[in-house]
Amino acid sequence: MVDHRKLGRELGLFHSDPLAGAGLPIWLPAGAAARHAVEEYVRELERRAGYEHVYSPPLGRRELFERSGHLDYFAADMFPPMRMSGDDELMLRPALCPHHALVYAARGRSYRDLPLRIAEQGGQYRAERSGVLGGLSRVRAISLNDAHNFCALDQVREEVAEVLGLIRSAHAALGVRPAGLRLSLRGPGERYVGDDHMWERAEDLLRSALAGLDHTEAPGEAAFYGPKIDIQIRDDADREWTISTIQIDFDKPERFDLSYTDADGRPRRPVMVHRSLVGSMERLFAYLIEAHAGAFPAWYAPVQAVVLPVGPDQVEPARRLRRDWIEAGLRVDLAADGSLGARIRRCAQTRVPYLAVLGEREAAAGEVSLRLRGGRSLPPMPAPAARALISAVVAARSADLLPA
Ligand SMILES: [Zn+2]
Repeated sequence: MVDHRKLGRELGLFHSDPLAGAGLPIWLPAGAAARHAVEEYVRELERRAGYEHVYSPPLGRRELFERSGHLDYFAADMFPPMRMSGDDELMLRPALCPHHALVYAARGRSYRDLPLRIAEQGGQYRAERSGVLGGLSRVRAISLNDAHNFCALDQVREEVAEVLGLIRSAHAALGVRPAGLRLSLRGPGERYVGDDHMWERAEDLLRSALAGLDHTEAPGEAAFYGPKIDIQIRDDADREWTISTIQIDFDKPERFDLSYTDADGRPRRPVMVHRSLVGSMERLFAYLIEAHAGAFPAWYAPVQAVVLPVGPDQVEPARRLRRDWIEAGLRVDLAADGSLGARIRRCAQTRVPYLAVLGEREAAAGEVSLRLRGGRSLPPMPAPAARALISAVVAARSADLLPA
């Protein structure tokens, strides 16, 4: 069993310091490099699927969250307001939806603009009790892969199906193996906005998107504004978490008075589909560290290759090789101190995918010997060919260390 907190510390991925506060982890250079690669991939996946990316601030006026309904239904999970001057209060946001509703409302919209897909890798905050915080799986500062797809009612079904497809692609590239699909429904109580008709309509839409797919139903797990499809994962301690989600919301478009001009010239309300392909970077990496036992696929490994000069005469050529490969876009380190065996063992502990060994013969011939994570060695090859091999694996976002 792997604990991401222990392994995350050993691999230098993230750091928790009581001085900074519980549930407020710091991403160290190795963790930040891996996260950066993942964020870049997701942004590109979304861009190609027609998403437009925005930036919005992680805090806003109290009135924004009154309007969105968060203060009526979600206040227990929010941090207390910061009083500025007079009755002006700012709050850390619990979700990105209020800002994205304002992006929609920033100008007039026509049916030709829909579906309008507004995406952001953005910060949101939850006032979790300190007792439940741990490593990256439950935090107070959350970096969410989020988007809100504004569409006409008759577009919702296809939109949900497309999002399910994107989720599948992202999971395959990252090596996420979902534990199951869940339809999260309303439970008893007053914690939900809207009328029965609205909930039934949203449920029907999600059920039709799930037709033919294995799933469970979870009453009481809906968002306060609508039902959702949750994709669940299980961690090494056998706890279940939601990693990806698709939610249908008829309520926020009402609250923010969102509209578009339809083909007949009449104003209509859009539907808001909230979706996250891979959830928060924190929870995603808590899972990925455990699922891969720290041995990430090469494309998001913090360091993709370490150059190992066999003797002191090869240190200079090794430095040059490292510089060339960094220029070519790879993340490369150099390990020159200590015996070769000790260096190889150290690299194995950090789960580096490739070691590039440079002996006297290789240096003279402009070659390098690649040693793959797991111990397999390839015969010496010209340095540019070795670089091309690694680049090809990275570009394909392959889980294997050799090109297909
Ligand atoms: Zn949302």
